[in-house]
Amino acid sequence: MDFTVSPQTEQFRTEVREVIRTHFTDDERHAVAQSGTKHSWPLHRGLAAAGMLGAAWPVSEGGQNRSPHEMDALYEEAARAGVPMAGFSTTMLVAETIRRVGTSEQRARVLPRVVAGEILIALGYSEPGVGSDVAAVQTRADRREDGTWVINGEKAFTTTAEEADYVFVLARTDQKATRHRGLSLFLVPTSSEGFAVSAMQTLGGERSNMTFFSDVVVDETALVGDVDTGWQTMLVALDFERGGEFAAEMKRMMDLVSTWATGEGNAVSSNTLRRIGRAATETAVAGLLGSRATSLRAEGRAANLEGTMAKLYATEALQRHSSQLLDALGTSGAARGNAVESAIEGMYRHAFVTTIYGGTSEVLRGVIAERRLGMPRTPRATA
Ligand SMILES: Cc1cc2nc3c(=O)[nH]c(=O)nc-3n(C[C@H](O)[C@H](O)[C@H](O)COP(=O)(O)OP(=O)(O)OC[C@H]3O[C@@H](n4cnc5c(N)ncnc54)[C@H](O)[C@@H]3O)c2cc1C
Repeated sequence: MDFTVSPQTEQFRTEVREVIRTHFTDDERHAVAQSGTKHSWPLHRGLAAAGMLGAAWPVSEGGQNRSPHEMDALYEEAARAGVPMAGFSTTMLVAETIRRVGTSEQRARVLPRVVAGEILIALGYSEPGVGSDVAAVQTRADRREDGTWVINGEKAFTTTAEEADYVFVLARTDQKATRHRGLSLFLVPTSSEGFAVSAMQTLGGERSNMTFFSDVVVDETALVGDVDTGWQTMLVALDFERGGEFAAEMKRMMDLVSTWATGEGNAVSSNTLRRIGRAATETAVAGLLGSRATSLRAEGRAANLEGTMAKLYATEALQRHSSQLLDALGTSGAARGNAVESAIEGMYRHAFVTTIYGGTSEVLRGVIAERRLGMPRTPRATA
């Protein structure tokens, strides 16, 4: 396998780096760190102005027809710069879904505003007590005689909802249907009456949210995909899941550690060098796993499983090594204020959530065991 990237990808990478440098200033980095919001509007608008939102889409749809390798470069540069991309990612996930299963009215109303960087869309799948087993959602949507829908329920971990224009809500629309049937997806404006947000702070200093829907009324244009087929609509998104970007977080950690290790006056013992060496090796492996998934995608093949493997490996390696490397910094690892040490300590706290969102490690292991190794399906525990 040859994962050498083309000069065109390197050129695009340079352009992305420049957009990040221009729009994600030190002041903006500080503001984002203070609020914990996983989104930067100045950067988002900067990416939009450079045509980098929806960059993978055809030119006729406002995109740049970028290859999977080029899109990888975009995510990698963002991760290496420590840019919060949750808002970008959820917005593009929903936009892709609308692009594929939305009505022509939805495509015309939503997609140009996404590409222009005008709107943000948060993901409302999880609920208190409902995460991995997302088909168990309790939020309900009931159709009224006039065709409108009334939504009631609570969502947990609705990241960036405090900034978003819409939440993409998974709700039960048929109370009698079996688990994976009777679910539907709605694009709910956050300006709706009855919608509320409250902050959830995480260990990593990143803000997420609880969101509440109390008799929120939406019309039929909010329904994305056919009624009661929300499960199938969610699966559409699997096709463009990636997984490779977590390797870039390892690379960011290595960049930080290299800066620290070569810094003046920092004592680097042979034990620390061994830790750095091990982390560098696993960073290379994580990068190769990500590249394999991307290369398959570039050939037009599905790479969901390869992306899953890349995500699982990279996030567990990130957790392991950020802990070991923080330890290697000694007492200076606990000091706040010094840019490099603080950033490594921040990586350590951030690493915990990476094995949870986008599928927990246990769930991903189950997916690999069943789909690649042909092992029997794990029976679901009953409460
Ligand atoms: C920082 C952060 C941001 C997030 N952002 C969003 C967001 O924007 N939108 C959104 O909808 N959700 C979001 N989530 C939610 C995330 O998707 C869920 O946390 C995740 O799916 C896990 O669900 P859970 O927390 O309910 O844990 P559970 O699913 O209850 O899992 C608890 C434990 O049981 C294990 N487990 C569960 N099922 C199995 C199984 N079948 N086999 C083996 N082990 C299993 C898990 O691995 C875990 O260790 C976010 C989460 C975090 C932490």
